[in-house]
Amino acid sequence: MEPLRFRSTNEQSPSVGLREAFLAGQAPDRGLYFPEKFPKLTPEDIASFAAKPYHEIAFQVLSRYTQGVIPDEALAQMCREAYNFVIPLEKTYDRVHVMRLDQGPTASFKDFAAQMMARMFGRFLGESGRKVTILTATSGDTGSAVAHAFHNIPGVRVLVLFPYDEVSMSQRKMMTTLGDNIRTIAIDGKFDDCQAMVKQAFADPALKDIPLSSANSINIGRLLPQSVYYFYAASRVAKPGEPTVFSVPSGNFGDMMGAVLAGQMGLPIKKLVVPVNSNDAFPRFLETGHYEKIVPSRNAVSNAMNVGHPSNLARLVAVYGGHMDETGKIHRPPDLAKMRRDIFSSSISDERTRETIREVWNKYELLLEAHGAVAWRGFLDWLAIEPMGDAPAVILETANPAKFPEEIEKTIGFSPDVPPAMDAMNKMPEDFDRMGADYTKFREYLLQKYQ
Ligand SMILES: *Cc1c(COP(=O)(O)O)cnc(C)c1O
Repeated sequence: MEPLRFRSTNEQSPSVGLREAFLAGQAPDRGLYFPEKFPKLTPEDIASFAAKPYHEIAFQVLSRYTQGVIPDEALAQMCREAYNFVIPLEKTYDRVHVMRLDQGPTASFKDFAAQMMARMFGRFLGESGRKVTILTATSGDTGSAVAHAFHNIPGVRVLVLFPYDEVSMSQRKMMTTLGDNIRTIAIDGKFDDCQAMVKQAFADPALKDIPLSSANSINIGRLLPQSVYYFYAASRVAKPGEPTVFSVPSGNFGDMMGAVLAGQMGLPIKKLVVPVNSNDAFPRFLETGHYEKIVPSRNAVSNAMNVGHPSNLARLVAVYGGHMDETGKIHRPPDLAKMRRDIFSSSISDERTRETIREVWNKYELLLEAHGAVAWRGFLDWLAIEPMGDAPAVILETANPAKFPEEIEKTIGFSPDVPPAMDAMNKMPEDFDRMGADYTKFREYLLQKYQ
């Protein structure tokens, strides 16, 4: 079989293989890489997942993308190492389940992508003898997941920028206590400022001697592993061939694109519910066909979803036959009618988010944090307008409540249990630099520390 090629959503750069798409992050035309063709799994392949552990499902799904690039044996080993934690599926009522993607090393779903990506990166760099510096802007969870996954990976240095006032202490400590090849800068600004500084660095000719790479959700390497847990969940809650409803709390739309990929590969999905917080550019677009990004992004309790212009929308629009560039301008509209049939989205205020945390706790003794609560509430919004019948549903809880003890305490009056690994990190000494949202200073910093 020919190795799969990846094309740019901006349609101007040539298509590339997996390794190149991976190491580049963004395409030269500033578009995002996307498979030229979606590899298909047969209904029999998918039915066989019911008897397989997670890491084997991961191998089955990912090997469709790594053919001719990573030998099967090596990939199988990476999957075993990356996915050595549990993935609880808790039943609530009828066939409605909560999937907890919060049992990885930094207690958010971002570990699923980061753990695999770091292993692939290490392998590709080793093969090419290259070294890179990974620059990442984070609203909290990406930075910690990436920092952990890449800690002590040879050939890689990581620099994480985070908005000082917008991340919780626990999120911060997961990035600032590692040391070695991991550095962090607290920015006195917003997540948008961090992201803008990182983007500017990538485009800055003065930094051409520092090989930079990205681990943000624009990297295709982040996306592919995020399709696996949809197959996993369906294999546990649906009968063979039966379509499942998924509710995915969304910010940059990388997680939901994992579900879209799974659907394109053959997973039957009844409806993809993608609620957002007050950053409601997508539900408005879905309703009106008119896209307007939110500048500056709005602060909400589900802080990892404070994204005013979700970069993965360019990929979603591409799947539906359209073309949106990196600034959000639409050059060719997607098939909106089809998008509406497949996808539902609503915006959940902080008030409804907190109300949901209380309600779900009181009704089911199930503890959600703000991101999972947005998913739950969005699912209810959808149920109010479309009949679900007897279909199975999976609502994603994307972070561990112990990452946000202050917020949970305020909302339901007690703080969540802290897993031992997180407790240990909370007690370790921190090391981070601090600067204003000033690109010139940031450039000086990069030249001084990394050249
Ligand atoms: C990043 C994140 C999200 C949003 O995921 P996207 O892929 O950006 O849509 C949701 N919940 C948590 C806890 C996150 O860290």
